[in-house]
Order: sequence, then structure tokens, then C-alpha cells
Amino acid sequence: MTYQGLIQRYKQYLDLPAHTQTISLLEGNTPLIPMPRLGNEFGCELFIKFEGLNPTGSFKDRGMTAAISEAVGRGAQTVICASTGNTAASAAAYAARAGLRSIVLIPEGKVAAGKLAGAIAYGAEVIQIQGSFDDALSLVVEITQKTPIALVNSINPYRIEGQKTSSFEICDVLGSAPDWLCLPVGNAGNITSYWAGFKQYQKGLPRMLGVQAEGAAPLVLGHPVEKPETVATAIRIGKPARGEQALEAAHESNGRIIAVSDAQILDAQRILASEGVWVEPASAAGLAGLIAESAKGSIDAKGKRVVVVCTGHGMKDPSIITESFKSPQVIPARYQALVDLVGS
Ligand SMILES: *Cc1c(COP(=O)(O)O)cnc(C)c1O
Repeated sequence: MTYQGLIQRYKQYLDLPAHTQTISLLEGNTPLIPMPRLGNEFGCELFIKFEGLNPTGSFKDRGMTAAISEAVGRGAQTVICASTGNTAASAAAYAARAGLRSIVLIPEGKVAAGKLAGAIAYGAEVIQIQGSFDDALSLVVEITQKTPIALVNSINPYRIEGQKTSSFEICDVLGSAPDWLCLPVGNAGNITSYWAGFKQYQKGLPRMLGVQAEGAAPLVLGHPVEKPETVATAIRIGKPARGEQALEAAHESNGRIIAVSDAQILDAQRILASEGVWVEPASAAGLAGLIAESAKGSIDAKGKRVVVVCTGHGMKDPSIITESFKSPQVIPARYQALVDLVGS
């Protein structure tokens, strides 16, 4: 049978209420791309789980299909979320598919162009908050406690259910869990989901390497960060809603949560692109973490299977690329001018 989306594929593993009415854009089923050349540098078998190939360009679609399907089934008319961008675009797309109204709160001026455009294109009512993501999240929690508007942030347990499916897919492709799973950590819903998924699927357990940005590393510092700052806007979060679960996942898996600098993140982004995989900055944090830990000798990846989760597509945040390059050279539309420039 043709692929019908991740709820259909994995429903016996997902704890969704009976009233759930599946709303799908055929999310999930993303490629696990072997990276032999890069893997050689660590002496490991390396794969990228490219979540940027979901319908709205990030892994958020996995949780959103579940959250919106549940909300529709219980008769919700309006959904709301706080977002650094990708949740907004995803909520807007699935709400549109379901015929619901969607409202998204974003931190003023801090959302990448491709994400904001997505939310608008799918018809969300976009509201900028004069504050951080964390402020926006407090506001949506309050309004959903006091009104019938449905919350679709990853505090919503069905988001976690949907997001577990990526670990199922990895096990299905590899035949078992990898030795290490490296991924970015922002609000910490995703690391929580992967860990829950691996435990449930019983195909072995990876060690988890969660990676935060230095300017937004509450789980490494051990306290909230009032003014998180990083180029990796998707993980620019100072008070992760599922921080404790993230620390638990790291601890239980005999893994850890570390921080890397923006420079290391952008480096990893370039390395991935040089292998043909263009991801947004936050999505490169997993690889940046692997590189940093291997350099220090604190991860022994040799002979191991390592999966690096790349959470969102590079097209979400084009300006981070174009800003740091001078614009393309301009020449007359003549053959000789072209040959003079590129050689023959
Ligand atoms: C949301 C997001 C993250 C962070 O995921 P959390 O579940 O908040 O930890 C990382 N990368 C991208 C591209 C995202 O959209």
C-alpha cells in the first residue's frame, strides 16, 4: 500500500485518544542518508536523518499531525502555539489542512524569513511578541487554560507521540537502534520523543548526545537563560519546557547534553552542505556536537553507528548564507565574458 503518513504507519505504537481524526500531509518517512566520507573522519558509520524533508521543512510535522488530528477529533476550532518559526509553519499547514483557524506567537524580529513566510502562506494569524520565545510560550499556555483554544506546542503530549516515530523509522531502516544519536536541543520536546520512542520500540538503545548553543544552554549551565542568543534561532530557548526529561534522557542513555558555539554550528552547517545536505543552523548542532566531542576524545565513535538528526531544511533560513557571502559576480551576457571568468 502507498504511504499514508506516520499515524497510519505506526498507530499501534502511538498513544492517541479514540476520537483522533487523522489529518496528514504524508509527513515522516524521511531519508536516513549514509555519509561515508564524513563518517570516515570519525571512523564510524554515519547517517543523517534528514528531517528537513518533511512537508513544511522540519521535524515539527511529526508532532503536528498528531496534535492537530487529536484537536480536530475533539472539536477544536482554533489552535495556537508559540514558536521560533518551524512550529508556526507546521501548525499553520496542518490547521489549514483541517480547516481550523491558527494563531502563532513569535518573538519579535527573531524568526528566520522562510519560517515566517511559511506561517503566512498557510494562513496563520501571526503575532509578534515583544519578548522571547519563553514569554510567548507562557502567554499561549495561559490563553489555552482559560479558553477553548487548543495548544499545539510540544507541551501537548500528542506532539511527543508523533515525534517518537522518527526513532521507529531509524530502527526500521538500520534493523536496530544506532550506538549514538546526536541532535539539537531547544525546548527539548524532540530529545524527549526520541528517547521515549527508542525505549518503546525495543530495538536497542542509543546513547543520546543533545546539543545546545552556547548562548542558549540552560541544560548545560543548570539554570534558565534570561536572554538566549544564537544564530541557531530554532534552539534560541532559555527555559526548555521539557528540560528535565531531556536531562533524564541524557542520563538514562549514558549520554550527555553539551553546548557548542555559533561558529562551530555554522562550520557544521558548511560541512553538511559540502556533502549535499543543506540544513538550517540549529539543525547542524548535532554534527557540531559530534565533531567537538570526538576532537576532545570524549566520544569514541570508532566502529560505531552514529545517527545525526538534521531537524530542519536550509531553505528556512537563507539569509544566514547570503549575508556572509558577497553577491554573485556580474558579467555582460556574452560568451567571451563567461569564458574569461570561468576559464575553459
Ligand atoms: C524545534 C526545532 C529544534 C529544537 O527542538 P526541541 O524539540 O525544541 O528541542 C531544533 N531544530 C529545528 C530546526 C527546530 O525546528
